[in-house]
Amino acid sequence: MPFGQPAPASARHVLVLTRGCPIDPKEAAPYLSSMATLPIITLPNPLLRKRSAPVERIDAELGKLADDMLETMYAAPGVGLAAVQIGVPRRLIVVDTAKDEEPPAPLVLVNPEIVSLGSDLRMHEEGCLSIPDERIEIERPANLTVRYLDRNGKPQELAASGLLATVIQHEIDHLNGKLIIDYLSRLKRDIVIRRFKKLAKVGAGA
Ligand SMILES: [Zn+2]
Repeated sequence: MPFGQPAPASARHVLVLTRGCPIDPKEAAPYLSSMATLPIITLPNPLLRKRSAPVERIDAELGKLADDMLETMYAAPGVGLAAVQIGVPRRLIVVDTAKDEEPPAPLVLVNPEIVSLGSDLRMHEEGCLSIPDERIEIERPANLTVRYLDRNGKPQELAASGLLATVIQHEIDHLNGKLIIDYLSRLKRDIVIRRFKKLAKVGAGA
């Protein structure tokens, strides 16, 4: 999910680089030089509609993938990213909803499962890094509890509200092949899809 306000890209990126460690200070240092931003796939790439498979092993390779996803998310800039958006259909998401003036608060959620949703609703104009320039007002539960494995494979449970709850639901939707355009009427959804198909054709030189 993209960052809400326009153009904080460079500031946010620098913040991450100068603070050095989006993850765990002990582990981040060796990775820093090798951390990479990865291309984000966009509509109409069919992979975005695939249901992601569970992560079966939490090892150094997965840690590297999570680091690269965080780097990619901060550079976008975004507040959430699912692995499938960089072409890896596994149940892994990264999130950071800290405001610019706050220290980074990266979260890595492996095999996340929502265990409860609150009854209050929250409306948010959501964007998606895989559907550039499209923003859609979506009403979702304002509070939730999510269970997941952290990057060390340790089971965690997190109670989230506000923007964090919205972003977690948006990213878990990605793991199930669901996109923000699915909250539109069929007619409006088809218009967006057509636009991106046309863009893809132009991009491919057709
Ligand atoms: Zn998205």
